[in-house]
Amino acid sequence: MIEKRDLYIDGRWSAPLVRCDMPVIDPTTELPFAVVTRAGADDADAAVRAARRVFPVWSQTPPALRRDLVVRILEEFDKRQIDLATMISREMGAPIDLAMTRQFRGGRKHIEQFIAAFDDVEFERKLAPDTPQDLILKQPIGVVGLITPWNWTLNQIALKCIAALLAGCTMVLKPSEITPQTAMIWTEILHDAGVPAGVFNLVNGDATTGAALVEHPDVDLISFTGSTRAGIEITKSAAETVKRVVLEMGGKGANLIFADADENAVRDGVEDCFANSGQSCNAPTRMFVARSRYREAVDQARAVAVATKVGASHMSGDHIGPVASKEQFDKVQSLIQSGIDQGARLIAGGLGRPDGFSTGYYVRPTVFADVTPDMDIARREIFGPVLCMVPFDTEDEAIAMANDTRFGLTNYIQTADTDRQIRVARQLRSGMVEINGVARGPAAPFGGMRQSGNGREGGVWGIEEFLEVRSISGWTVV
Ligand code: NAD
Repeated sequence: MIEKRDLYIDGRWSAPLVRCDMPVIDPTTELPFAVVTRAGADDADAAVRAARRVFPVWSQTPPALRRDLVVRILEEFDKRQIDLATMISREMGAPIDLAMTRQFRGGRKHIEQFIAAFDDVEFERKLAPDTPQDLILKQPIGVVGLITPWNWTLNQIALKCIAALLAGCTMVLKPSEITPQTAMIWTEILHDAGVPAGVFNLVNGDATTGAALVEHPDVDLISFTGSTRAGIEITKSAAETVKRVVLEMGGKGANLIFADADENAVRDGVEDCFANSGQSCNAPTRMFVARSRYREAVDQARAVAVATKVGASHMSGDHIGPVASKEQFDKVQSLIQSGIDQGARLIAGGLGRPDGFSTGYYVRPTVFADVTPDMDIARREIFGPVLCMVPFDTEDEAIAMANDTRFGLTNYIQTADTDRQIRVARQLRSGMVEINGVARGPAAPFGGMRQSGNGREGGVWGIEEFLEVRSISGWTVV
């Protein structure tokens, strides 16, 4: 049993004021393998006070100094690849090869892209050539509370912490209670890289610890990634202190496969939906297929689902692992049940664990065909390896069905017709659109519309989330 109960406040590890143990469960065994402590409101307050005390100094540091620090963080990060990947795999069930590659590299990529984008941030400029005494300053907003989920845990921690550091903010990170040990390794990395005391603080805990940061009057901004349910609660609670809230929340991505799409479009779409055991906010979970290809697509999707291997997270290979927690497992099972009850056609997978598994939060790779818009599986974020398939007759119908959701994170278009690519992309209501499998560039903004959120992470946009725009007039012209 790993016992790491301390919090990281003001540059050192220290015991929480009141000990309240939280087990960390291995989703492959369903057993605890580590214990951390939940920080209380007083611990969160101590972390905020440390961040506040150092803010006047850190916010005035030359940008080049902050950039150099992030370069050192990247060096330390690379040294800890095996530690990070092993812990991600253990805590949230990502197969070790996935953890060593996509999970680790996702975090790394974000540190790198922020270093590259930093020079493009305009911290200071004149309003216009004919108003030389008007200066626009973009300055760090203050002490920020960062609340993160577990599914791509390094991505989300890096996206927030590195952007906040570069902006000149000081911060308190409250990571997911499912992946607290990964966040502790991240904290060791920042410490070893020389992040000054108080600039970065870590409080482990659950929603109550997060709520303490949200309610804290001396936190200027909350950057939250997680479920839409929690984002709504946080927004309401943050209103009491009128703090800025940046939200990155759930998704229900549509994948529009037109008749002229590449022959591998269905296969790739199913694999993308199942990747990370279906636990990606931007997963293409609703596959809309032109009717002329629909029957063939259903057969192809069934074949991919049947061929998808499921296995333990410590095993090497290209299988998918368990979902991260009992709560996730139960939620996915109940949504599969609702799909069956509401009349969707189950063509692969279904209820219960895959054959050969009696423990572990393993879900059968599942495909439903003939899903209708009123069904729960069409409307709710499932967050497991479950695909919904729907036929369409016209382009307009496909766009309307794709947009018939409260979410708006990422949508996908598969067509060889360049006019249609542009036409459809313009009409899809989502923060991101991916055409024919071409991934976004490394510093492109990541974020959603509608109930997927209001933030933009990554690149210049991600850093600017942590800056306040100020207007100074009467500036002496130099
Ligand atoms: P969650 O909302 O349950 O928890 C996320 C974080 O918020 C955790 O640290 C949790 O302790 C904290 N929290 C929960 N309720 C809170 C409250 N009332 N006040 C303060 N803090 C609170 O989400 P999860 O299960 O950890 O993550 C999965 C969700 O995250 C999915 O909906 C997924 O789509 C979303 N997600 C979104 C993005 C994105 O960039 N849009 C990226 C990854 C995950």
